[in-house]
Amino acid sequence: MTGKRGLIMGVANERSLAWGIAQQLHKAGAELGFTYPNDTMEKRVRPLAESLNATLIAPCDVTDDESLINCFQQVKQDWGRLDFVVHAIAYADKETLKNPFTQTTRGQFTQALDVSAYSFLAVAKEAAPLMAEGGSLLTLTYLGAQQVIPNYNLMGVAKAALEATTRYLADDLGQSGLRVNAISAGPVKTLAASAIGDFKKMLAHDAATAPLRRNIDQDDVGKAALYLLSDLASGVTGEIHYVDGGANISGAFNTDEA
Ligand code: NAP
Repeated sequence: MTGKRGLIMGVANERSLAWGIAQQLHKAGAELGFTYPNDTMEKRVRPLAESLNATLIAPCDVTDDESLINCFQQVKQDWGRLDFVVHAIAYADKETLKNPFTQTTRGQFTQALDVSAYSFLAVAKEAAPLMAEGGSLLTLTYLGAQQVIPNYNLMGVAKAALEATTRYLADDLGQSGLRVNAISAGPVKTLAASAIGDFKKMLAHDAATAPLRRNIDQDDVGKAALYLLSDLASGVTGEIHYVDGGANISGAFNTDEA
C-alpha cells in the first residue's frame, strides 16, 4: 500500500474493528488519516492516529452534512486525492436492541438507518471526486442483515440497507474505477457490540458452531480489509465478504450444542 492514502472513519478505541484495519494498512505502508465525531472522541482517536503517523486527523459527524463536506474539503486541501476509505460506523438507540422489534419508533428507525446506512452513501458522494485515479470504499456489516439474530433487531434492518447501498454504490461508481465492498464480520467485543444483549452468547455460539470453531478478531478483519482495499482485489466490487470463521454457512445448531 506504499504511496496509497486513505481515510479511516470509526475508530473509538483500540478494540475498534477500524483500528484493526488501520494497523494492517499501516504495516503494509499506507498513509492514513482518521476522523472523529466529536471533541470527546478526538481525545481518544488523536493519540491512536499519531501512533500510526497519521498525516490527517479531522472531525466528521456523519449525521451532519456540513461536517461531512468540511471533512472531505480538508482531505482535498491536505492530500489533494484519496485512494481508499474505511467506513466503520453504526448506531442504534440501545432501547431498540432490548425492546421487542415491533416497539421500534419512527425516530429510532430513521436515526439508525441514517447513521448506519445513509452515511456510507454520503461518504462515497464526498470521496468519489477525490478518487479520479480509482479507489476503494469499504464498510462493515453483520449477518443480522440476512438472517434474524436474537437482539440484533433494528440494527439488522440498518445493515440490510447498508448491504444494498454497497451494491448500488458499486454499480454507480464502478464506471469511474471505484470499487465498493463490505466485510460481514463475526462478533467481536467492541464498544458498539456492548449495546447488543446476550453478546457473550453470540460469541459462544459462533465459537462452538462456526467451521473454524473459534471467534474471529480484529486482525482477521484487518487482513481481509487490506486485501479488499488493495490492488489484490482489483476485480472485486459490490461484494459482501464474510470474515466470520465460516459461521454464515452453519445451520441453527450443531450436534454438540444440541
Ligand atoms: P466501535 O469501536 O464502537 O466503532 C463504532 C464507531 O462508530 C465509533 O467510532 C462511533 O463513535 C462511530 N459513530 C457512531 N455514530 C457516529 C456519527 N454520527 N459520526 C461518526 N461516527 C460515528 O465498534 P465496532 O464494533 O468496531 O464497529 C465498527 C463497525 O463494525 C460498525 O458498523 C459495526 O456495526 C460493525 N460490525 C461490528 C461487529 C462486532 O461484533 N463488533 C460485527 C460486525 C460488524 P462513538 O463511539 O463516538 O459513537
